[in-house]
This record gives sequence, structure tokens and C-alpha cells, in this order.
Amino acid sequence: AVAASARQVVKAYGVGETRVVALDRVDVDIARGAFTAIMGPSGSGKSTLMHCLAGLDTVTEGHISIGEHEITRLKDKKLTQLRRDRIGFIFQAFNLLPTLNAYENITLPMDIAGRKPDRAWVEQVIGTVGLADRLTHRPNQLSGGQQQGAPPSGSWGRVAVARALAARPEIIFGDEPTGNLDSRAGAELLGFLRRSVDELGQTIVMVTHDPVAAAYADRVLYLADGRLVDEMHRPTAEQVL
Ligand code: ADP
Ligand code: ADP
Repeated sequence: AVAASARQVVKAYGVGETRVVALDRVDVDIARGAFTAIMGPSGSGKSTLMHCLAGLDTVTEGHISIGEHEITRLKDKKLTQLRRDRIGFIFQAFNLLPTLNAYENITLPMDIAGRKPDRAWVEQVIGTVGLADRLTHRPNQLSGGQQQGAPPSGSWGRVAVARALAARPEIIFGDEPTGNLDSRAGAELLGFLRRSVDELGQTIVMVTHDPVAAAYADRVLYLADGRLVDEMHRPTAEQVL
């Protein structure tokens, strides 16, 4: 089954002399229950493709579907609603609220959407990321001795992953989710993403330029100059390199 698809998607920024074609007739199907990585050089269109697939950005031409919904036909209000109800995000700066504890951060999107959390599911998610005994900690208390201003630690990543999973989204998009983490914390976060696919059946699409991160995926798509130029299935880090 297909969780998301792009058909002949063109995305151009600017007009006339300053026009940049970031995506040039991209066709892709994202399989449900799989972990897909998008790789490619800087400026190849990775973030643009993710933003278009996630309905964060409009396309210039072509069509995007999430499940059975063609999102390129939806009006702003419906699109916002679909994003809120069906899509999870993990950004590089995890965007957690330091004044809320881990549990409150995890359930915040559902609170905003006015949805009741499915308690059993939220508990399963919390178990998957190993936060069960730290739910009342605030994010900056989670990792104890870490210094002010230090990059976010693995604990932030756990909360960010749990928050994305908790609302049972059809698909989670990650934009360089390990970009701010050291290699140990990055590996931990990727391990949780992998487990959420294997154990919970989650669909994940992740943009990364890190071959080690991409090696956690089932499928790696390669972009160059706004086109899909290659793909690999279950590659090793060496193959991705
Ligand atoms: P990547 O994520 O692979 O680094 P991007 O999707 O960010 O690539 O960018 C693809 C191309 O689109 C680049 O040439 C970039 O400069 C251009 N681009 C991205 N965002 C904008 C924008 N908001 N305005 C103008 N050009 C943009
Ligand atoms: P941790 O120990 O969980 O890594 P830190 O104590 O290093 O957290 O974080 C210091 C402060 O930096 C936090 O109180 C928070 O305000 C801010 N911060 C850290 N990471 C993030 C992030 N990903 N997004 C937003 N703010 C952050």
C-alpha cells in the first residue's frame, strides 16, 4: 500500500532570471510501513521534496497524495487539518517546550488538535523510546549534567520521536533529525525510528545527508538537481557512500 505519492511534481522558486527549479518532474511512491531516506547533495531538492510531500509547501505543478487524499487539491484549512491529524514531524531542532514535562510535550499536538490521546498506545510508544520512568521530567532535566547551550541530547530525541508517534500519524517526516546530535545520540534516535517501523508499523520519510543514518532505512532515494536519479533497497552504510 502507498502512504504518500508524488506525480510529476515541479517546484520552482522565484521568477524570470532568479527562477530556480528545485524539483523537476519527480514521481515517487512512499510505501506504507517502510522507512524511506532521501539523500543527495546540498541543494539537490531534498528538503523541498519533503516539504511538498508533507503539505508544508505548495507545488508549482503536479500532484501529491497522502493516503487517499490528494493534498494538492485541498484548501489551506483542510490541509492544515490533515497535517495536524495525519502527519508527524521530527525537525532538527526538536522544538520541544522546555516548560512542559516529557509527557506533556508528547501529548501536546493532540491537546492542540483537541484529540484524546489513546492511552494504551501512548504508553506503548513511551516504552518503545525508553521514557517510562521519566515522564514528569522536563526536557532539560532529562539528561542531568548537560551544560546550558549544549546541543540537544539523546533524551530530547526520545521525546521528539515519542511526540511524533503518539498521535498515530499515517506518516512521519524527519528533516535531518540527527543533524544536531552526537553520533551516539544519533544512533539511538535512528534505532527508535527503526523500531517504530518494525514493531509499530510506522511509515517514515527522512531527509539526511548522512550515509550512516540512511543505512537504517529500507529504501534510499537519491536526488540530484531536483530529479530522482537512483535508489537502493536495504543498503549498508558502505553502499550508501
Ligand atoms: P537540499 O535540501 O537538498 O539541500 P533544498 O530543497 O533546500 O535542497 O533546495 C533545492 C534548491 O532550491 C536549491 O537550489 C535552493 O537554493 C533552492 N531553494 C530552496 N528553498 C528556496 C527558497 N525559499 N527560495 C529560493 N530558492 C530556494
Ligand atoms: P539536554 O540536557 O536535554 O540536552 P540542555 O540542558 O542541553 O538540554 O538544554 C539547554 C537549554 O537549551 C534548554 O533548557 C532549552 O531551552 C534549550 N534547548 C536545547 N535543545 C533544544 C531544542 N532541540 N529545541 C529548543 N530548545 C532547546
